[in-house]
Amino acid sequence: MESGTAEQITASDGSAADGGTEPAQIEVRNPATGAVIASVPVASPAEVAATVARVRAAQADWEAMGIAGRRHWLGKLRDWVLDNQDRILDTMQAETGKVRADASNEPVYLADIINFYGKHAPEFIGEESVRPHSPLLAAKKLRIQYRPHPVVGIIAPWNFPLILSIGDAIPALQAGCAVVLKPSEFTPLGLTELVEAWKTEIGGPDVLDVVHGIGETGGALVDNVDFVQFTGSDRTGRKVMARAAETLTPVSLELGGKDPMIVLADADLDRAANAAAWGGMMNSGQICMSVERIYVEEPAYDRFVSKLTAEVGKLRQGPDRTGHDAEVGAMTSPNQSAIVEDHVKDALASGARALTGGAKVPGPGDYFEPTVLVDVDHSMKVMRDETFGPVVGVMKVRDAEEALRFANDSRYGLSGSVFGERERAERVARRVECGAVNVNDVLINYFAAGVPMGGWKESGIGSRHGEQGIKKFCRTESVVITRFAGKREPTWYPYTRARRGLVNRIATAINARDLKRRLGRRGS
Ligand code: NAD
Repeated sequence: MESGTAEQITASDGSAADGGTEPAQIEVRNPATGAVIASVPVASPAEVAATVARVRAAQADWEAMGIAGRRHWLGKLRDWVLDNQDRILDTMQAETGKVRADASNEPVYLADIINFYGKHAPEFIGEESVRPHSPLLAAKKLRIQYRPHPVVGIIAPWNFPLILSIGDAIPALQAGCAVVLKPSEFTPLGLTELVEAWKTEIGGPDVLDVVHGIGETGGALVDNVDFVQFTGSDRTGRKVMARAAETLTPVSLELGGKDPMIVLADADLDRAANAAAWGGMMNSGQICMSVERIYVEEPAYDRFVSKLTAEVGKLRQGPDRTGHDAEVGAMTSPNQSAIVEDHVKDALASGARALTGGAKVPGPGDYFEPTVLVDVDHSMKVMRDETFGPVVGVMKVRDAEEALRFANDSRYGLSGSVFGERERAERVARRVECGAVNVNDVLINYFAAGVPMGGWKESGIGSRHGEQGIKKFCRTESVVITRFAGKREPTWYPYTRARRGLVNRIATAINARDLKRRLGRRGS
């Protein structure tokens, strides 16, 4: 891989990620081949500010359009996405090195999330009426209206270039916000195509745009917007939160994970092994919710490991276009590929054994062999830090209690899964310390749009999906309306003993819970 020059940088260089001066262009490579396929212009801080100002100017009309008007435009986006799936997938595969089947999840997710928020927005962010809690407020009408943060900045990672960018923009747009997106420097092309389509083919209002760059551009976006939706590593998440603190800008952070799977002795071991293979290797393990650690009750351990090894051993790896010729694609980011290699080497050096894989595949293209590690323990990086590659570590445990102790021994808490007899598995699942847990399935909670998806501990702050996934893009405005009134309220000026005394007697009578105090006497 070439390193960047003063004027041009490859995304893999990443030298500007810590906030240094960024180059004029970023080259984008196809990770399946290593070839440069395009370059994108980097937006300077001034250009970021101008883009935010432009969409901000259009936001008031977008908000005034109401939920139904915005649903209409987002419906056009859904139709465009469904009509252009092949084009979307071609671009995505070229910039990520994904296999076709993995890439195919993205357009259908976008259509689903547009429909979900289009349908539920009135219930989630429609005006609410609240009954006054006290007779003293009987003359008031109480309302809560949900007003959008005018401009939302979305900073996205490379592993799901559309789901984790425009997928979060959809509820923000439906809420009435304008949105400026900053895709990952590794995968800017598909999102740019989609935003271009919004502007030109769909002719959508000028409330959606994209800026390119790394740390400097991302930082400038944080400085200019009213709400930040960040998805990425916890390392960058901390920087984004610190930067946002300077302007007291609220953030929602979707960060890393180290998801555990617990396999109980009474599990259907075929299903558990197939789930572990798919949950660990899907998208080459580059999912925040990938199965990374597996704890198996002793009586099932040998059978589970042999089924998992057989399943992973069968996986085909390599470039795929439209033929579904492989299950496991490339490593999208060379930086991540180096981390995966480091974790596996560290484990092998400390006594782990690789039952499948265990090494990088020689180029061209950046591939890491689907790897099952056993004889691992919690002193190894592969069981403690986020690996984010096609690697699972499997540990034998005495019982469910020990499995839970290990599962919860992590600084992360994004999601997890438990396999076993349904009721027992459910009892164990409820004790896993994370934002979402699947019983006898993996990853599926992400596609259950009605329930929140967010991390505990260092996996994040806030959540996407469900009611909160759109409410977070809004500020509440409580509207208190006086229905009938005289010239002045009894609590206003002038203060007199008689007026204030009457108010106090009424308030005491309302708040007291026994007759004596209601009548103004002290308790004994
Ligand atoms: P990353 O943190 O390196 O980058 C994320 C984004 O932040 C990129 O767009 C990058 O350009 C930008 N960025 C870099 N420096 C910045 C700065 N100083 N200020 C503002 N923005 C900056 O993450 P990544 O490698 O792109 O993605 C992989 C990570 O994302 C993994 O940790 C994974 O677990 C996490 N992830 C989390 C979720 C979730 O929903 N919780 C989903 C997918 C991925």
